[in-house]
Amino acid sequence: MRLLVIGAVAAGTSAAAKARRNREDMEIVIYERDRYISYSGCGMPYYVGGELTDYEELVPRDTEYFKKKYNIDVLTEHEVLEIDPGSKRIKVKNLASGAVFWDIYDKLVIATGASPVIPPVKGADGDNVFVFRGIGDMNRILDFMHRKDPKKALIIGAGSIGLEMCENLTRRGLQVSLIERLGQVSPGLDEDMAVYVQKYIEEKGIAVYTGAAVTEMTESGVSLDDGTRVDGELIILATGVRPNTDLAKRAGIELGVAGAIKVDERMRTNIPDIYACGDCTENYHIVLGKPVYRPLGSTANKTGRIAGDSLTGGNMTFRGILGTGIYRVFELAVAQTGLTEREAREAGYDVAVSHDIKVDRPEYLGGREMVIKGVADRDTGRLLGAQIVGYGGVDKRIDVFATAITYGAKAEDLFHLDLAYSPPFSTTRDPVAYTGMILDNAINRDRPLITPQELSELIKSGEDFVLIDTREPDQYYTSHLEKSENVPHAMCRDVLVCKDKECTFVTYCNEGKTGYAVQNILKNYGIEKVYNLSGGIRNYLANCPEDVIVKK
Ligand SMILES: Cc1cc2nc3c(=O)[nH]c(=O)nc-3n(C[C@H](O)[C@H](O)[C@H](O)COP(=O)(O)OP(=O)(O)OC[C@H]3O[C@@H](n4cnc5c(N)ncnc54)[C@H](O)[C@@H]3O)c2cc1C
Repeated sequence: MRLLVIGAVAAGTSAAAKARRNREDMEIVIYERDRYISYSGCGMPYYVGGELTDYEELVPRDTEYFKKKYNIDVLTEHEVLEIDPGSKRIKVKNLASGAVFWDIYDKLVIATGASPVIPPVKGADGDNVFVFRGIGDMNRILDFMHRKDPKKALIIGAGSIGLEMCENLTRRGLQVSLIERLGQVSPGLDEDMAVYVQKYIEEKGIAVYTGAAVTEMTESGVSLDDGTRVDGELIILATGVRPNTDLAKRAGIELGVAGAIKVDERMRTNIPDIYACGDCTENYHIVLGKPVYRPLGSTANKTGRIAGDSLTGGNMTFRGILGTGIYRVFELAVAQTGLTEREAREAGYDVAVSHDIKVDRPEYLGGREMVIKGVADRDTGRLLGAQIVGYGGVDKRIDVFATAITYGAKAEDLFHLDLAYSPPFSTTRDPVAYTGMILDNAINRDRPLITPQELSELIKSGEDFVLIDTREPDQYYTSHLEKSENVPHAMCRDVLVCKDKECTFVTYCNEGKTGYAVQNILKNYGIEKVYNLSGGIRNYLANCPEDVIVKK
């Protein structure tokens, strides 16, 4: 049996290695058009920034390694030009010699990955403009920096790679500007979480331009569609990727979401004996119950392994994704899993959301705050997604959420998880448990939340309601919400009992805890409609600063 694989980075090499682990009696050949194979694209930003200094760590395996360890032939600088499923063969061009030949297969794996999207803008082909996908791109950027010694860099696209490059080019001493066509950085997050990321990177010295598209790129900078001119000699395009599926399409292989290859749970395409995996494929989304396109290295490795198992007769199946991801920008960790509020609403859910500002461990052991946004289905209580922005312990919390969502947990289940606690690692009640409690209270225990945006609209509507600031007077006078009255927690039993029970009340404090305590008092007193501000005035200030009266 002869297995041919197209593409030798994450998915292709995983598929080939798994096939070899399952069967010794197979001929396995991988064709790769690039010179570099099996590298860590995810590590490249840190090599540019100098945090990773050992090139071998980035490109740990070569063709010899695959031959020796797996008896797999990896032919680099060999581009596959055509797949002929009828005669089960592929047409290959040796890019070094120019020779073209056909090779036959019994099983074929397409792991052609994705390519950067280059915006159709004048000057995008300039010598100072770079995409950042492979080792070759990275080397070209480093070479440019070495030769031209640029002082200013422009990054177009504020997703994970753009943000990672903000950090790493700053580390290299460049002054960085970040430009994003959409109205927010971190477009994968909800806007009310992305504001935390934007504020942080601006404090780190990054000039951020959102809601502005680049119209022209030159040697010295870019022009934006609002007329702004931004300087920068080095321009990096981090404007997303699209799946490499031209080859598959021409062979009659069915494509799906975003033009990615349609595969079943065994990574089979619609054509017998042809499998696909990694960034060139769509993936089944566990919550949405339908395919989406979320190209990630974690998924590429997994789907590659399943393709290798499947084609050798194994019974592994791919169970789907949640789009779980995490990245670091300077010291800040940004993570998400499952659906955002925006996606959940688009999918038709009646959504409950919570914002929770908590330390990852006690402050006396260096704990720092993280903001967690939880998204749940109001009808069933099912947890749909979580987003976290913070410093320490973000990774483990997002993975707990991902695990819980994978197994269909309800928001209320989070409180019951037996999570590890000791002061160096966590708080007695973990931030994950708090998110569950807050959502459970909102969904099942008549303790509804109001988001900053909803409260801002309510304030602007002129509708009659009572807005209670439950903090101490000194905090109130430092900053408070327009139209609020100050009734500190300790006094609220005396003051609020006089209020009209038919009124709608909104309570708030700094982060939500005291507002919740007063919400309970009001509810127990018999008031029907009492909302607590999600994430307190701090979350409000981050999202709707115009309604906050700050003492001058
Ligand atoms: C800077 C950066 C940081 C990243 N960070 C993260 C991260 O932190 N976490 C994460 O999960 N993911 C991250 N990713 C994404 C991750 O690197 C990709 O999801 C992963 O590389 C996908 O692997 P793949 O094998 O499917 O595709 P690719 O890596 O795109 O490899 C496909 C290969 O196929 C070859 N090929 C294509 N067509 C042909 C052809 N016709 N003939 C021969 N060869 C062909 C290509 O040359 C390419 O080498 C990052 C990516 C980048 C660029």
